[in-house]
Amino acid sequence: MRITIDRERCIGSGQCVMTAPGVFTQDDEGLVELLPGHENGTSDPDVRHVPATCPVQAVSLSED
Ligand code: SF4
Repeated sequence: MRITIDRERCIGSGQCVMTAPGVFTQDDEGLVELLPGHENGTSDPDVRHVPATCPVQAVSLSED
């Protein structure tokens, strides 16, 4: 499962980090970042819930 993040849309609300803390983090400005090792995809099942929790649709998933 690949993850696409749109930092232009991100408003730093943090739901992605709360939902999948093993995959997402926030930079010093609060904007979403992927934790190292997840840039090319992840199998973490928590990630599947993230697109629905992000208030600005800044996270999308696609299958490998
Ligand atoms: S949930 Fe969405 S808006 Fe909030 S930090 Fe994550 S990507 Fe950004």
